[in-house]
Amino acid sequence: MRPELLNPLFAETESLDGVGPKLKKPLEKLGLVKVKDVAYHLPDRFVQRRAVTDLDEASVGEQIVIALTVTEHRGGGSNRAPYRVLAQDEAGNVVALTYFGRASYSAKKQLPVGSKRWVAGKLDRYGDMLQIVHPDHVSEDSSGAMGNLVEPVYPLAEGLTQPRVAGLAHQALDRCPDLPEWIEPGVLSDHDWAGWREAMVLAHRGEHSAARDRLAYDEMLANSLALLLVKEANRKRRGQPLSGDGHLRTRLELPFPLTGAQERSNREIESDLAQEAPMLRLLQGDVGAGKTVVALEAMLIAVEAGAQAAMLAPTEILARQHYETLRKLAAPTGVHIALLTGRDKGKARESILMGLLDGSIQIVVGTHAIFQDAVNYRNLGLVVIDEQHRFGVSQRLQLARKGKKTPHTLAMTATPIPRTLTLAQYGEMDVSRLDEMPPGRQPIDTRVISAERIEDIVAAISRHLESGAQAYWVCPMVRENEGEDLAAAEARYATLKERFGDGVVLVHGQLRPELKDAAMERFANGDAQLLVATTVIEVGVDVPNATLMVIEQAERFGLAQLHQLRGRVGRGSQKSTCLLLRGEMLSEVGRQRLALMRETQDGFRLAEEDLKLRGGGELLGTRQSGDTPFHIADLDQIERLLPIAHSDARLLVERDGVLASSRGEAARVLLYLFERDWGVQLLRGG
Ligand code: ADP
Ligand code: MG
Repeated sequence: MRPELLNPLFAETESLDGVGPKLKKPLEKLGLVKVKDVAYHLPDRFVQRRAVTDLDEASVGEQIVIALTVTEHRGGGSNRAPYRVLAQDEAGNVVALTYFGRASYSAKKQLPVGSKRWVAGKLDRYGDMLQIVHPDHVSEDSSGAMGNLVEPVYPLAEGLTQPRVAGLAHQALDRCPDLPEWIEPGVLSDHDWAGWREAMVLAHRGEHSAARDRLAYDEMLANSLALLLVKEANRKRRGQPLSGDGHLRTRLELPFPLTGAQERSNREIESDLAQEAPMLRLLQGDVGAGKTVVALEAMLIAVEAGAQAAMLAPTEILARQHYETLRKLAAPTGVHIALLTGRDKGKARESILMGLLDGSIQIVVGTHAIFQDAVNYRNLGLVVIDEQHRFGVSQRLQLARKGKKTPHTLAMTATPIPRTLTLAQYGEMDVSRLDEMPPGRQPIDTRVISAERIEDIVAAISRHLESGAQAYWVCPMVRENEGEDLAAAEARYATLKERFGDGVVLVHGQLRPELKDAAMERFANGDAQLLVATTVIEVGVDVPNATLMVIEQAERFGLAQLHQLRGRVGRGSQKSTCLLLRGEMLSEVGRQRLALMRETQDGFRLAEEDLKLRGGGELLGTRQSGDTPFHIADLDQIERLLPIAHSDARLLVERDGVLASSRGEAARVLLYLFERDWGVQLLRGG
């Protein structure tokens, strides 16, 4: 149960004065649903104003506050001409306060001739007259204006104005209760951080980087704490220790020696499996790094120890591919491997279910179908989850419930993320990294080309297809303009189909699964030569004969994503090419990022560099889905503070794993505040 003192923060935005159904919508667009969201809606930046007594002291373009006496009203005659209120400073310098359209009504009221007013705004020049267009503030007394020397600028959505949002932020701040301190006193004093409520107020009031750091730290602490509580709860569970005698593994006839990184990962996994506490390990390795063999060895250990292993893939196609690969690799061992997907029905399905129940099937590969209620295992000892990033933490927790004793879990991901973010994303797991590629890989020839040369590119594809090879054509699908993007992909498909005929297929996320699978399958078996796709192919097919990839509007993708896409080619013995089409408007960072793609094929390096390039103060506004689990902390703060937050969280869990101390109680409040309460649920012996 959420602590009561948080209730005011979890009230709907409609409980704020002035928020009705009409304002609710634009607020939701900004992700502001609860009062706490409004409180955490921090300014992008601040306008700094200088108080001057004499216009001569100010320069054109400057934001100022000044006391003026109104001398004359001009205009209002024709509709087009702006309404001008002339006013003088103490020295008699004249400035025009200029209003367009309806704003003139309020100007007439606020600025009667002869009155003295404090005016805040940006000083401009119009001909040889000084002017302030639409002053930000006009007030009768100095305190109003002087109180606004520093003014926040909030991110807006259509239908919202700065004063509106500022007003709501103000109300939300008023509702912020004093919360108990969850940060370790040493950390707090080292950074000279204020308490939560005060930091909140400061963060809205000016450029208080310490206050913002504190709020970001809170978020990271909540995240780490929740993940570590999962880890701790897992450590206390009883699983079955699995020690293999090697009799199956020695029968493997791999056509290659393992890389050092594979050997190391195997050892780490082997020693985890031998423990009673269930393994919770992430195997992180770039596309093509050779995760499958590592997974196979782990599964063979389970079988050697008399247990079963299940491998979960995110899609039907991927499950099928894994099944084929594993069956071939494991053939000499004689281990019985089965495939189970949602497609299997009737007798075939029955017999697989029987085999899992009586233990005659030792390894099963499949989609989430392998975890349905009807599926029972004789003795499930190990679960391997491929493409981990497709599954959230709570889903991961679900999987662990299958089996009488908690099975060991090996998660695998090809998304190379920087070390710091690994901590944020997978902090509950131990990590094995395949940071070494198998030898002899052909580099993919990557080129950045202006989209204007599309005709040349189509001609190149034509030659490519004529030679008997296949190709991918990728169109961006980034969430904001989903509709537009989809239309663009469909249009591209139409033109390519016109040119190349029926050998062109289209695949995107909104296609019905059967159609998607059918198209993928036509491409995989060589029936189709050109696959036009949105990012759905990011995780998926392995078609060695596809050696050319075109990526449209490459600058719109994250580097990690580009890298994963590119990993679809370069899988066969033929040399592969990746063409990155860029738009005309390319920012400097955009240019550097694409250049980096050309320069390296090391996924981890790309991830680190991408983080650096986008770091440097740039907020995560353009974040790729799944990039970081944070809303408040930006990349720079993550780099600086996450390691501290994580070790702070670790200490707390070590000292007070049930969060019973007074700081532990405070930490519970924190978990609820950031909606990481699944961390708390576990404390009640989940
Ligand atoms: P991923 O990590 O993307 O799942 P895979 O396991 O599919 O990579 O491996 C990619 C390819 O590399 C496969 O064809 C596999 O047989 C091969 N491979 C794996 N390990 C090695 C190795 N040590 N030496 C050479 N080739 C390897
Ligand atoms: Mg793989």
